[in-house]
Amino acid sequence: MEFLTLTEYFERLESTSKRLEMFEILAELFKSSSAEDIDKIVYMSQGQLLPPFHGLETGISEKLIERAIAEASDEPVKKVEHAYKETGDMGLAAEGLLRGRKGYGLTVLQVYEELTDIAMTGGTKSVERKIGMLANLFRGMSPKEAKYIARLVIGKLRLGIGDPTFLESLSLAQGDRELRPVLERAYNICSDLGLVAKTLLEKGMEGISKMRVTVGYPIRMALCERLPSPEDIIAKMGTAAIEAKYDGFRVQCHKDGDKIEMFSRNLEKTTRMFPEIAAAVLKYVRAKRAIIEGEALAYNEESGELLPFQVTIQRKRKHGIEELSKELPLKFFVFDLLYLDDEDYTEKPFTERRAKLEAIIDKNSIIEPSEMVLTGNPADIHRLFENTIERGLEGAIAKRPDAPYAAGARNFNWIKLKRSYKGELSDTVDVCIVGYFTGRGARTKFGIGGLLGAVYDPESETFKTLSKIGSGFSDEEFAQLKTMLDGIKLKHKHKNVDSDMSADIWVEPRYVISVTADEITRSPMHTAGRDKEGIGYALRFPRAKGFIRTDKKAEDANTVSEIIDMYEQQKKVSL
Ligand code: ATP
Repeated sequence: MEFLTLTEYFERLESTSKRLEMFEILAELFKSSSAEDIDKIVYMSQGQLLPPFHGLETGISEKLIERAIAEASDEPVKKVEHAYKETGDMGLAAEGLLRGRKGYGLTVLQVYEELTDIAMTGGTKSVERKIGMLANLFRGMSPKEAKYIARLVIGKLRLGIGDPTFLESLSLAQGDRELRPVLERAYNICSDLGLVAKTLLEKGMEGISKMRVTVGYPIRMALCERLPSPEDIIAKMGTAAIEAKYDGFRVQCHKDGDKIEMFSRNLEKTTRMFPEIAAAVLKYVRAKRAIIEGEALAYNEESGELLPFQVTIQRKRKHGIEELSKELPLKFFVFDLLYLDDEDYTEKPFTERRAKLEAIIDKNSIIEPSEMVLTGNPADIHRLFENTIERGLEGAIAKRPDAPYAAGARNFNWIKLKRSYKGELSDTVDVCIVGYFTGRGARTKFGIGGLLGAVYDPESETFKTLSKIGSGFSDEEFAQLKTMLDGIKLKHKHKNVDSDMSADIWVEPRYVISVTADEITRSPMHTAGRDKEGIGYALRFPRAKGFIRTDKKAEDANTVSEIIDMYEQQKKVSL
């Protein structure tokens, strides 16, 4: 396929916010793609070159691309800067400056390979080389192609197509929407939509159903539901495996011989951050190949005391890792086994996975199985829960003993139980920032006084507002937030945002924050969970906890239905 043809699809996708239309356009695009192109088309449509777990970044900043556009258009950099300032969109700036150019008719494959080369260019003088290569690419492009490439390389090509839309469109392209669950399972075990699409085109549905868990490809993580009390948990599960809920980083660790890779909650590569865990897994996990999951958190080596999340988070750094790992060593509490020596464990019952996990770990001071008690008695859960709270942990997680690992799903196989204080929601709510208010009074000087937070509705792939958040951040944090949000600001409300409130500045839905509140109330102001009478849900006295959740993507914000569940449950809380 020619790259110009792909940009025509991008244009059509951009101009609609109706999901049904998006399905149709994408299905048409998939039907006209070759097996060689389709994975690249999927990645580029999501504004990337490879899935995030590869950790491949273009390494191109705004300053750098301005120089490349200047070089390609034979204009001074000042003129590019001006065009960018005027339009607020690097794509439009590139399109304008390259007006009248005829492209060479580059193919998707050529463009993709060129961009990958640019991304992989490192070492001395790499900046100059990247600029030269990018300018060359622009020279071979028509203005429209340049528009999308400019947005893509600086991470701003956002067509608003989520994973579910892709999966739906892929099954539509096959003429059978019933195929969606099978495609979804394939995606959940490899986290690579491009690979799923390519397999489908090359080998059909037979190839898809033969896809297997593979070491090196992260499995989309299982998540927890909530219930308000131990009694509810036992009523739901009968017997349950109750584990301590540790408050650190979720780590999915892949061992392939003497090679280790680690992935975070949102499937980014975190291998370099936790060298002592990698070393311990190599030494103490008796397996050639394995995928294990657990929670890593900082602890005091002398007292054995586990440290709070605010301490553990300091390990999230790119530099000085070796020193930091001595200063703030980690414990790795493992709680699941998903793959072992060529055998997929995800379909096996939890108790079997857990028993095998315990069996393959040699005793050591870093890796430890999570604390677990198997019980059918709510009193045992109360006891374990109180004990975890006393030790400063977050609470407990109940797991259904006979359940498989629910890759990519949030269901009642895992149920979390957190402390609820009188007058406070038992759990924080994760909202995505969709805009901000410039603020009144003392805050005017920062230019930001409050945020507009929204929850996610996977059905419509939209963000629906739930709350204005004006407290919980320090002045410095507000100033930092303003800079971050200004980097993603938009002229109009994003097409995937559903809001009646008018933010002073709209932003792309990208950053997630955790918010605590007194309770969830019904409200006509917000669009989350709105009923026929126009009454939605809102947070009463919201305050932010911590800063941006770097472990969550916009779509990982809480969903509308979770908010409704939390609203129903707050009536019954008994802990
Ligand atoms: P999400 O469910 O979306 O991840 P969250 O980040 O707020 O939301 P919770 O739902 O509160 O997290 O808890 C689930 C997380 O708890 C897991 O992702 C994992 O990181 C952590 N966790 C701690 N201890 C355990 C355990 N024993 N078993 C499973 N998960 C655990």
